[in-house]
Amino acid sequence: MKKRIDNILNRISDAAARRGIRGSDVTLVAVSKTFSADDIYEAYEAGLRIFGESRLQEANEKIASLSNLSDIKFHMIGHVQTNKLKLLGSNFSLIHSVDSIYLADKMNRYFESLGRVQEILIQVNLVNEPQKHGIKTEEIDLLINSLADKKNIIPRGLMFIPPFYDDPEKNRINFRNMNKLFENVKVKYQFLKDFNILSMGMSDDFEVAIEEGSNMVRIGTAIFGRR
Ligand SMILES: *Cc1c(COP(=O)(O)O)cnc(C)c1O
Repeated sequence: MKKRIDNILNRISDAAARRGIRGSDVTLVAVSKTFSADDIYEAYEAGLRIFGESRLQEANEKIASLSNLSDIKFHMIGHVQTNKLKLLGSNFSLIHSVDSIYLADKMNRYFESLGRVQEILIQVNLVNEPQKHGIKTEEIDLLINSLADKKNIIPRGLMFIPPFYDDPEKNRINFRNMNKLFENVKVKYQFLKDFNILSMGMSDDFEVAIEEGSNMVRIGTAIFGRR
């Protein structure tokens, strides 16, 4: 696994260099969904610190069993159902998948009840794919405006899952348009402080995503193997 991780880190650095930034400017989230706590520990020993999970129950079991590692962090990258909010607790340093005013309202109230301030990303359905989660671009202004007076969820940026293509080059234009949207939102909404995360890029397309502006990649298969 160490070899695979080193290979990914080198490819991240190379892609970052092509955009004129450093490899360390790109955060690697190792997507450990379906893999065991032992697998996560192996990746931790190889130097990784941030892990992405998509199912809350599964995540919480692993998080509990790794709680002796004080500097490990978990991100929630999957869809969050409002009836499962109570499984979030303070387990996640970042939630990538806020995609509606309804969810944002419920989540804010939940974290208010915990006395916790939770950092989140807004998941965008850029090209209006019908079965995909994410806020449509024409509804993003309403969602962001609704976040202005929410004290317990802090928007840190945008997250994007592109349409599936065999050739990652086909998504270059979508990654580029996500970056434009990200830059526009930053300029338009002055209340957004530290709105500086653009989460896009997975095992098969992270280099293109970084070249087009991503600064957080979510990589599973290329680190842990096939699920
Ligand atoms: C599973 C998953 C990934 C990782 O995908 P790989 O192709 O295995 O790298 C990234 N992001 C999200 C939201 C996922 O659910």
